[in-house]
Amino acid sequence: MTIQLIDQIEALRAQVRAWRHQGDRVGFVPTMGALHAGHVSLVQAARRTCDRVVASVFVNPTQFGPGEDLARYPRDLEGDARQLEAGGCDVLFTTTPEVMYPPGFATWVTVEGLTDGLCGAFRPGHFRGVTTVVAKLFAIVLPDEAFFGQKDRQQLEVIRRMTADLNLPVRVMGCPIVREPDGLAMSSRNAYLSPAERERALALIRGLRRAEAAFRQGERDGRTLEALCREEVAAGADRIDYVQAVDPGTLRPVEEAAPGTILLVAAHLGKTRLIDNLELTA
Ligand code: AMP
Repeated sequence: MTIQLIDQIEALRAQVRAWRHQGDRVGFVPTMGALHAGHVSLVQAARRTCDRVVASVFVNPTQFGPGEDLARYPRDLEGDARQLEAGGCDVLFTTTPEVMYPPGFATWVTVEGLTDGLCGAFRPGHFRGVTTVVAKLFAIVLPDEAFFGQKDRQQLEVIRRMTADLNLPVRVMGCPIVREPDGLAMSSRNAYLSPAERERALALIRGLRRAEAAFRQGERDGRTLEALCREEVAAGADRIDYVQAVDPGTLRPVEEAAPGTILLVAAHLGKTRLIDNLELTA
């Protein structure tokens, strides 16, 4: 294997320093592991604009709420390393909660406003965990560019906000959602689904596409588009957290949808919570 596995912060810093010294541009892809083609697409995007690519695998405990799936989150470091290498990743950085949150750890990064709605309303503390760990990882890796999936659309906007607000010298890049051939957005959590749940999970993309079709036929009312989507999602999912048409910058609900409006959904199938979204285009 040619990918380098690094689990020490100082060793990672030394490697990145050496690359920078020779003028290389460094791309970074943070993940929680159990990698799939969606993650690999981020590595490939990084490869296109950067000379070196670092990916991290860290199941970050602070972004899980009580009763969420931290303990059973899928882990497969060997498979992850294989996929990252095939995607053109140079270094896989792994670390542990003990290293990231040692005794006495007391500093949190919080983005206000953008984290109030959508997943923020259903997962209290989640985004605080995400922004804190991403800020730490940026400080550890010191990348020129960092790559995030549009699948976690709210997360992407929250990280953009944090990076701008803290003047972090990192260019944040959003990459398209990678889907299974039948349309289901790829997710590490899809591994939890039973065959029957996997089938019912298609309700999310069906709902999004139904609203998209209505939008293309001229429907502009935000609540009507949400209702069309919701009806389809409800036919498959056990519980819906939200279906919302929002402005791409503010993530606030829009009365009137327009090209660029994002429709987002979060729903539960059994014990699994899935999210997906679509940008409405004319
Ligand atoms: P995770 O490992 O779930 O924390 O995700 C790590 C990164 O991969 C995040 O930036 C996600 O948005 C991104 N990602 C996850 N699933 C997909 C997908 N289906 N398509 C594109 N990016 C994805």
